[in-house]
Amino acid sequence: MPQQPMFMKAILLLYAMVPTMLLGQGTRSDTVSVPIRDVHYDVTFMRANGEQRVVDVAMTFAPSGAGPVVVSLPAWTPGAYEISNFSRWVTDFEAVGDGKPLTWDKLDYDTWRVRAGGAKSVTLRFRYAADSLDNAMTWARPEFLLFNGTNLFLYPEGQSLEYAATVTVHTEPGWHIVTGMSRAAASHTFTATNYHDLVDMPFFVGHFDLDSARIVNRWVRLATYPAGAMGEETRATAWEQLKRVIPPEAAVFGETPWMDYTVLEIVDSTFGGASGLEHQSSHVDVLAPSYVGSEFQPSLFAHEIFHSWNVKRLRPSEMWPYQYSHPQPTPWLWVSEGITDYYADLAEVRGGVVDDHGFYAATGEKINEVMNTPPVSLEDASLNTWVHPVDGTGYIYYPKGSLAGFMLDVLIRDASNNTHSLDDVMRGLYQSAYKHGHGFTSTDWWSAVSAAANGKSFAAFSARYIDGREAFPWDSILPLAGLRAHQTRVPRLGVLTSPDPNGIMVANVQPGSAAEAAGVKAGDYLLSVGDIPVEDQQFGARMRAKFGASAEGTPLPIKVRRGTETLTLAGRLQFGPGELLVEPDPNASSKAVRIRNGILKGTTG
Ligand SMILES: [Zn+2]
Repeated sequence: MPQQPMFMKAILLLYAMVPTMLLGQGTRSDTVSVPIRDVHYDVTFMRANGEQRVVDVAMTFAPSGAGPVVVSLPAWTPGAYEISNFSRWVTDFEAVGDGKPLTWDKLDYDTWRVRAGGAKSVTLRFRYAADSLDNAMTWARPEFLLFNGTNLFLYPEGQSLEYAATVTVHTEPGWHIVTGMSRAAASHTFTATNYHDLVDMPFFVGHFDLDSARIVNRWVRLATYPAGAMGEETRATAWEQLKRVIPPEAAVFGETPWMDYTVLEIVDSTFGGASGLEHQSSHVDVLAPSYVGSEFQPSLFAHEIFHSWNVKRLRPSEMWPYQYSHPQPTPWLWVSEGITDYYADLAEVRGGVVDDHGFYAATGEKINEVMNTPPVSLEDASLNTWVHPVDGTGYIYYPKGSLAGFMLDVLIRDASNNTHSLDDVMRGLYQSAYKHGHGFTSTDWWSAVSAAANGKSFAAFSARYIDGREAFPWDSILPLAGLRAHQTRVPRLGVLTSPDPNGIMVANVQPGSAAEAAGVKAGDYLLSVGDIPVEDQQFGARMRAKFGASAEGTPLPIKVRRGTETLTLAGRLQFGPGELLVEPDPNASSKAVRIRNGILKGTTG
């Protein structure tokens, strides 16, 4: 018996080695496709497709040579930093060459190898399950389709992605087709000059509301599904917001990079929250109905549209060019996302969607959010997003990166006596990196920041606040912009509670708290505090409203149920730290006031 395992192991080892060698030899040449040309995609979405929630896709091309055609679908959609493997929604794959079926197999989960055998024209067809309500994906309803090119458009492995292609959408007469892609002469046909552009132009097909307006001398379109999802008044407000936020964004860069821009918006009650995904000349928003016309709407528009400059064009070098088969982690999402969010706030205040106090409130909210999140460096948080960390830091590079942008803006304006700003950094890098066909590096970024700040070094700043985890130094930054932080104080009972069927149970009493001094014990059920019934989430707000202006030590009767008894304990009011508010400093220097106004108005000098 002891021999047997050894013998088995030897056999297994032998078998394990042979196929590996064969696989290695067999696939090395086959992982590269023969070149292809005359690439055309057909996307079919008729009424029957909608009812089955599927899209029919075909790719037709002319292979050069007799070798295999190797094609892949992307594993992710740029902007949505997670691996999705869109091939999982593919069914009924088939390959035809000069009218005859071709044999094919898979090389990995995203990749098909087709034995084209010298065929002059090859067509690959598949059906795609369109049931994912996600702005990076494909979603169908009986009379509506959202699709992303990353989901449907195969590309040749090992060949340049700089190939031109056309797309024809086949749909019911009278159904709309809207996309950022350029229209060709043929009806329902669109053209892209390379694969990157091809997959960066999502489509709406079917029944939805669509209108357009001129903003900064360009056409902007607003497509919303379902029809009627955005009422007349809300739509007028949305247009007003678009007209206000786009011009200040264009002013940062000195140009509008698109010929036209399309806002694609889906409103659906099965979607929790609100989400946008940027593209070079469009963006897709998916919103729960409560977000339509909410305060969040203009900031979503402003954020996604700013991305058409920042990340779709001015982009970290790690993501230039996009590679679709694997993750492209970068430590710079705090710039691509966070600084985009800073400029969304600036576009709102510069365009007059919110007033100065709206900007201070947005900044204060971000400071509080970061303070209530475990310390993580901006570079690490940027890298980590691909694995969706569970500690609450997964998307902290948005508010924290926004605040880093605000700090840099203040420091640049301070060092240059308000003759330069973060706008110069963004515009300068847009010219020097994007316009020269490459991404920006760490050296590019910090050189541009330093140059704008009159040569000041940001090495220590980067080490402490960007690469490091130190708390941002608001006490020294805010006064430079004529602002100050005001730490609010709120009534604090000092208990952790957990609701159960019997009421609101005290799970924990904090040492030194008002609750401890009054004699509240873990296991008590809270009935009322200061005669305010403890029954729901609004308790804290009622407590602040009633006692916020009272003196510390004010008598505070605490009524609890302990076992079968009801007790009224003699408590006394205590205060603890509440939200931090950002407000103008009435004693600000004239230089600080100039900096504050420069930030709010987008001016220097
Ligand atoms: Zn974003």
